[in-house]
Amino acid sequence: MSPASFVVAGITAFIVWVAVAGLLEQGSLEAVLSAGRAELAAPLLVALVVATAICERIWPAERRPILARGHVQDACFVALHAIVVIPLMTLLSVGAAALIGGHAHWIELQSVAHWPGWLIMPLTIVAMDAANWLAHYADHRLDLLWRFHALHHSQEELSVLTSFRAHPLMHTTGFILATIPVVALMPSRPIDPVLITIYVCIGTLQHANVRWTFGPVGRVIVSPAYHRLHHAPDIQDTNLGVVLTIWDVLARRARFPSRSDAVGRTGLDGRPVPVEQDNRAGRALLLLAEQLIEPFQAQS
Ligand SMILES: [Zn+2]
Ligand SMILES: [Zn+2]
Repeated sequence: MSPASFVVAGITAFIVWVAVAGLLEQGSLEAVLSAGRAELAAPLLVALVVATAICERIWPAERRPILARGHVQDACFVALHAIVVIPLMTLLSVGAAALIGGHAHWIELQSVAHWPGWLIMPLTIVAMDAANWLAHYADHRLDLLWRFHALHHSQEELSVLTSFRAHPLMHTTGFILATIPVVALMPSRPIDPVLITIYVCIGTLQHANVRWTFGPVGRVIVSPAYHRLHHAPDIQDTNLGVVLTIWDVLARRARFPSRSDAVGRTGLDGRPVPVEQDNRAGRALLLLAEQLIEPFQAQS
């Protein structure tokens, strides 16, 4: 057993409990959950995933059957995402905002309170992206967080569906950190849900099984080719960006792909997390359970 993993689970449960208790008191639990669903499972995102999956068939980085084991397993993670992770993410953001806003009023920046929405909203999203970069950096640097992040990196057959291949408890750090700029910059104004959906869409595209570098735009926005380098078995401490590459550039951790590069391997050497490519029985749901339990098992 790994007690540290239970601590992460406990912290997550506490934040969710704060959110549920507060929302039940206001009688708005159902409304907030459905607003979260509208943001995180927006038709725009679904259309993007379908369009990208079609592009993967036409211009694949690695050619493989449509029902490759990696695709089937990641489809199970899409279902888990829709059923468990979307409500969890919604409650984490509400709970983290309640805890940080309620106990650390001093981080609210009064000087930006009168700034117009068109300025403060993109600024807040850029700051959230920096927070997400920091959370991703922590995922790679801290053993405790890596146990939950490793599952995402275990995929040897990247596709757009790999964006959803994540342990539900991997999101807690990101939501705590990303809430700080929201409370600081927009304590009493909501962020336009369309902007959140666009942000999620760009973040989802990065796992696509295509060779796109996005040309000059790829110097600023994370492209599938750029993120693929992050999934290489040996160089995961580079290209940590979620949507913007600037944090990697500032931290000297950016490695820009070139169109002529060969398509590199992805996954984790030694397969520390059980993976479908190793599982000949093909029982996807059983493997999903094993992959979710893995961070709680004793680590050598
Ligand atoms: Zn990573
Ligand atoms: Zn990734």
